Amino acid sequence: MSLAQGRHYLAIPGPSVIPDRVLQAMQRPAPNIYAGELPDMMPGICADLKSIARTDGQCAIYIANGHGAWEAALSNVASRGDKVLILATGRFGHGWAEIAQAMHLDVEVISFGKRAPVDAARVADRLAADTKHEIKAVLTVQTDTSTSIRNEIKPLRDALDGADHPALLMVDCIACLACDRFEMDAWGADVMVTACQKGLMTPPGLSFVFFNERADAARETADLVTRYWDWRPRAWPEHFYQFFGGTAATHHVYGLRAALDMIAEEGLEHVWDRHAQIARAVWAAFERWGADGPLEMNVADPAMRSHAVTALRIGAPHGTRLRDWLSSETGLTLGIGLGMADPASPDWHGFFRLGHMGHVNAHMILGALGAIDAGLKALEIPHGRGALEAAAEVCAGR
Ligand SMILES: *Cc1c(COP(=O)(O)O)cnc(C)c1O
Repeated sequence: MSLAQGRHYLAIPGPSVIPDRVLQAMQRPAPNIYAGELPDMMPGICADLKSIARTDGQCAIYIANGHGAWEAALSNVASRGDKVLILATGRFGHGWAEIAQAMHLDVEVISFGKRAPVDAARVADRLAADTKHEIKAVLTVQTDTSTSIRNEIKPLRDALDGADHPALLMVDCIACLACDRFEMDAWGADVMVTACQKGLMTPPGLSFVFFNERADAARETADLVTRYWDWRPRAWPEHFYQFFGGTAATHHVYGLRAALDMIAEEGLEHVWDRHAQIARAVWAAFERWGADGPLEMNVADPAMRSHAVTALRIGAPHGTRLRDWLSSETGLTLGIGLGMADPASPDWHGFFRLGHMGHVNAHMILGALGAIDAGLKALEIPHGRGALEAAAEVCAGR
């Protein structure tokens, strides 16, 4: 019998769970876009976004998803034919590379595979070999949502500085801003892109490009910049409409305001710590299940795992069977495996992901893990014992 009635839990890695407070803030008639509350809210929103990005730099807002932010960021710093180096640890690194390619950049990808993080020593070697400084920017993804690998950003800044290389460091934090610790200025990122529908808990539709003075200096000569994607009027608007390059994303602004208030009330450090502890509870459960049977976390070393999402390997066809069963029988929807196998191949059915980003607390995650435990049993997928106890121990702070 299906036990799926009740509140459905969408535990895919984005869009993440939207807090009622965010939804309620958006439930209103169209606001005036010329004066009053909406324009008045913008300085505070920009300040709060910068404090979450840990930067004193600038923030440009786009009515776009993460793909839009990828393109916006590149258009402001690059010219046709410029060389960019992309450090890929999953599908999203390659996705950014495809965007760059389509913008007629000279794209070089170093792929570190699907199970290992970026190796800063290899990057340092590549930069040292670029004696003519042809590489204009180094692009990477902090948390690649497809693999759940979390990359260290500071060592990449050190590699650039060590090679005395002027390339910009550009980081995709779309999956993990306000989940995994990120320090834009302290770690030396020149550009950071993110979007609102993951750690920022707001329906998809807004994305953000943060940039520092070095990146803005590159904007001076970038020939890919177009009127709409130009970050300058958005970051330094003389009129309210310039924040959005046209009509404001009215309701999203209210939703985002509520989400930023929630993050501020909890405190960013606490938000990071909560994600870390919830991630450890998730890993403890998967560790136990995996002790017997086919289930295995994609990233072996916990130090290299994101706190926002966990990618799993369970062997075909168990991934799809488990996702389907959980969704129809328990009201829990897990993420598909992304970029792990060709969608046309039977192997594609051997993966899944659990998103644990944003508006997620202990009872939600313990409930999700309990449902997965039921699924493994119902489908007779071999698994080790003690997973839920192990997760509860972590949630209990032991
Ligand atoms: C979700 C995601 C994207 C793509 O964002 P869209 O809003 O779907 O365009 C890019 N990079 C990472 C790391 C992501 O998690």
